[in-house]
Amino acid sequence: MLYIVSTPIGNLRDVTRRAVDVLRSVHLIACEDTRHTGILLKEYGITTPTTSYFQHNRFAKGEYLLGILKEGRDVALVSDAGTPGILDPGYALINLALKNDIPVTAVPGPAAFVDALVLSGKPAHRFVFEGFLPQKPGSRKNRLQELARLEYTVVLYESPHRILDTLKDMRDVFGDTEIVCCRELTKKFEEIRRGTAQDLLEHFKKQKVRGEFVVVI
Ligand code: SAM
Repeated sequence: MLYIVSTPIGNLRDVTRRAVDVLRSVHLIACEDTRHTGILLKEYGITTPTTSYFQHNRFAKGEYLLGILKEGRDVALVSDAGTPGILDPGYALINLALKNDIPVTAVPGPAAFVDALVLSGKPAHRFVFEGFLPQKPGSRKNRLQELARLEYTVVLYESPHRILDTLKDMRDVFGDTEIVCCRELTKKFEEIRRGTAQDLLEHFKKQKVRGEFVVVI
């Protein structure tokens, strides 16, 4: 069995009992970053061996993991944060396993976009998850213009390095629409800030921007 195991997005206590049981019992844990996951494993006294599985080794390591699964041994897949397969290389391994008739199941848990969507207070019955916007300024603005035409709540991920540029583009595209920036979710300095893109820009410009963001429009 390939277990897709969700892990915390910041607060180490946000792990399910089943996730701990599965991580303890599998033959191997494939991690985006073994050092990062090592902190979680140490916290829960889990001594299962780990191996790295990330964007740049996903083909070779995918075959290696498939070999182990084909021998009938269980493997757990975790990402750095949240649910594997949501914007991380997990997608490739899940598909490889499915194509090879390996049983796959999920141990559900945190995902940053779900947390942000409900905390935003925006309608959550119909929403679009955009992931990361294009990095090139022209493409980013075009994408935002396309999103502005949708009658859905839009949820997207952004890094601290690009949030100010993205908010500038959002100011041009969305004007007075209320936007919600969710920063450092589940962590000590969690911040949920609502306002127009201009309000948010003024706020986040005041100090060096830290932490990961989910933006809800
Ligand atoms: N697999 C993850 C999930 O289930 O949400 C997402 C992985 S994606 C590579 C990483 C992005 O998720 C970050 O750049 C950020 O936008 C968002 N993110 C992850 N943890 C977060 C947190 N604690 N607070 C805000 N955003 C977070």
